[in-house]
Amino acid sequence: MPGTQRKSYSVTPETAPGRDLIAGSSVTGMGIKALVSVDMEGIAGVVHPAEINPERYEYDRCRRLMTGAANAAVEGIIDADPAAEVLVADSHGPYRNILPEDLDRRARLVRGKPRQLGMLAGLQGGVEVALFVGYHGRAGAGGAVLAHTISDAVLDIRIHGRSHGEIGINTLLAGSYGVPVVLVSGDDAACEEFADLAPGAVTVPVKRGLGQHAADTLHPEEARDRLREGTARAIRRRTGEPPVSVPQPVEVEVDLHQPRGADLAVLIPGVSRKGGRTLTFTAQTMTAAYEVIQLIVLLAQTPS
Ligand SMILES: [Zn+2]
Repeated sequence: MPGTQRKSYSVTPETAPGRDLIAGSSVTGMGIKALVSVDMEGIAGVVHPAEINPERYEYDRCRRLMTGAANAAVEGIIDADPAAEVLVADSHGPYRNILPEDLDRRARLVRGKPRQLGMLAGLQGGVEVALFVGYHGRAGAGGAVLAHTISDAVLDIRIHGRSHGEIGINTLLAGSYGVPVVLVSGDDAACEEFADLAPGAVTVPVKRGLGQHAADTLHPEEARDRLREGTARAIRRRTGEPPVSVPQPVEVEVDLHQPRGADLAVLIPGVSRKGGRTLTFTAQTMTAAYEVIQLIVLLAQTPS
């Protein structure tokens, strides 16, 4: 049409899809690329729901403890590899707990939700190793502090028939990207859970579980020192650690506490019911399995 100008677009290297516009903002990008996923239940000193819920009175203090633990891991990684590129994924509750202004400035922070790959967001961008800090035991684990699997709405999750908590599910998700988990820190139950999956990897226990809401815990500063040292050790020996993965397609079963959650979850295509409160599905990849699990949990948490 006369007078109509065709707009032309050119893709410059600066705007090409997939280019990370803030990569290298604080690091050289020449070293290892590490993802540190940080949860809150497994941080030293934390034992009770009042300490990890943003609406409750002890939360503010505990988010500082969580930020301190994240910093210890960043320091350890950079001690071992000064050119490392470190992403910290805030992975508890609303994913907005770590105080950005108090995080070590050499790291970048993945914050907020919903987001793809949830607790492991950032994994897609060429991450070479993952570390889990502040993690906790799976639902029903005896003597494990604040044990649960994603939500209190979940009784158990099995992948190819084996029960897994967040440590297991996330280790398998990382493994499906060829990424080994080289360190887990949390209470003794969390560390044992991980050692069953990856016997050679580093674990840094920071408290001994005495029950769901009780622990014998290290001082937060002592825990940070051990975390920094353990993280540096894990990064130095990373090449010896193979990723842990499962065959695809992935067979998943989810037991919920309430049958009503299962009533809703069967609305997801491919998800079927295997009993009053057990759901089953087959996913082509671990990423798809992870996404469907998130969706089931979301529906199970929907208020009636
Ligand atoms: Zn959490």
